[in-house]
Amino acid sequence: MIGSGTGLVAALAARVAGAEVVVLEKRKIVGGTTGHSGGVAWIPNNNIMKAEGLADDPERARTYLTKLAGGQATPELIEAFLAAGPEMADFVEAHSPLRWRVSTILGNNADYHPEWPGAMTRGRSIEPVTDRQGLYGPELIGGLQKGFEDAGGELWTETPARRLIVKHHDENRREIVGVEAIRDGKPIRIRARHGVHLASGGFEWDFELKQHFLRAPTLYTLGAGGNTGDGLRMAMAVGADLRNMNEVYAHTVYKAEAEALRPNNMGATLNAEIEKRVAGSIIVNDRGERFHDEAADYDSTWRSFYTWENWGDLRYRNLPAFAIFDGSIRKKGKLAGASASDPLPDWFMEAPTLRELATRLGIDPDGLEATVARFNENARKGVDPDFTRGKSHYDRYGSDDVSITLGPIVEGPFYGAEVAAADLGTCGGARVNAKAQVLDPFGEIIPGLSASGNCAGIGSPGASYGGGGGTIGPAMTFAFIAGRELGAKLEATGADAGKPA
Ligand SMILES: Cc1cc2nc3c(=O)[nH]c(=O)nc-3n(C[C@H](O)[C@H](O)[C@H](O)COP(=O)(O)OP(=O)(O)OC[C@H]3O[C@@H](n4cnc5c(N)ncnc54)[C@H](O)[C@@H]3O)c2cc1C
Repeated sequence: MIGSGTGLVAALAARVAGAEVVVLEKRKIVGGTTGHSGGVAWIPNNNIMKAEGLADDPERARTYLTKLAGGQATPELIEAFLAAGPEMADFVEAHSPLRWRVSTILGNNADYHPEWPGAMTRGRSIEPVTDRQGLYGPELIGGLQKGFEDAGGELWTETPARRLIVKHHDENRREIVGVEAIRDGKPIRIRARHGVHLASGGFEWDFELKQHFLRAPTLYTLGAGGNTGDGLRMAMAVGADLRNMNEVYAHTVYKAEAEALRPNNMGATLNAEIEKRVAGSIIVNDRGERFHDEAADYDSTWRSFYTWENWGDLRYRNLPAFAIFDGSIRKKGKLAGASASDPLPDWFMEAPTLRELATRLGIDPDGLEATVARFNENARKGVDPDFTRGKSHYDRYGSDDVSITLGPIVEGPFYGAEVAAADLGTCGGARVNAKAQVLDPFGEIIPGLSASGNCAGIGSPGASYGGGGGTIGPAMTFAFIAGRELGAKLEATGADAGKPA
């Protein structure tokens, strides 16, 4: 098993089935991006929501997911996810100390498009039970790791996998039989009798791969530093087909903050994403035009930065972009994560008038004034005819009160900062079937190789995600499917899965 994020579920499932399992982790710390994530998993029709009396069914979820996938998932992947998701959540509870509850994170548990057919306003997002406040990735990874190690599994940190070992049975038949890795600075070969599972995360820290594969290369990332596309390369080297290579999961960040944090492999923070949804704020391009619903979910929002302008210098119309804030937000809330008593970072502009703020940020002042005048007039009426901000239950954090996100920008001094899209991770990789087996470009199974998470071309499944946990839910589910398949193989052959060699 390669990668100790959501891939730990594959390791746990295989180990519980009786396999001898080694997880190779490139970094010193376990967990990858999953370990510093919210730890939320989106699982339609899960038994945790049912225990709260929240009714869901696969048919509803299928309708919702099919629309959301945008043609970038096959019906078989959607079916596999819907069927195995609830089973995976129960399995994890049964075989680790992790316990689930319906998610409470950010106080908004709705699916990201709650008005769509088949959506739910609560229940599909689940998270680890904990007394701690914050992001629950540590609890998710802690629980999975403990379950796996208690079951006798081995986890080797600082052991990057380099290559898959291929055995050619004859001209047309090959099989993945092991992994080459580096341990204690020396090359080692690990024999895997019943298969190798790739769960090494995305290629968010390989900017050359991003430049060539993504529809619009996100320059910033919050993904874990070890995610440099290793699994993708290993899969390509043995002839894997690819899917969803043009997609990332992303959200909005303050550009200066992202620049400052990038050298530390930290990428960015969630500050801009949280603050831009507050009443009395908008996002504009350098013409001063708004271009999206600022309160919509982050994964849909980031795409709007990349509207292409096909005249003049040819450029993304909505880059650069800027968040603009009413002065009252500074008094009552947070800007750049700083409350009223804290100083603002020097890249966060303050100006007595909107015109002056526009000039300092490099926005057309007339454009910004016109946009704010129109926005204010409508916001006072509680509507946004241009981008429907506040209309969705999601925008209003589940409340009926539209003023929670829609309010005029009137009080000086005004504040603003440049924003950009940053990814949480890329989500394209090896094409797999419903059993998480990796396929070649002719649709043939590459024996001995499975994949899940952000190095598999599964997505959510598909292009965008359904609700909080929309990446971890499918990643854990396909990891579970892969581990379970390995177990079935063991049962058929009565053997164990592999030994370090
Ligand atoms: C702040 C933040 C909050 C988020 N919150 C959520 C959330 O609540 N719910 C949700 O669904 N999504 C969330 N996401 C996105 C989510 O965390 C990721 O999409 C998901 O964790 C990816 O899981 P993964 O297992 O594919 O990759 P990872 O968890 O990154 O695991 C991959 C592992 O493989 C290792 N690896 C890489 N190369 C090698 C190699 N050659 N050999 C050995 N090991 C290797 C890496 O070091 C890493 O540990 C969040 C992201 C961020 C940044």
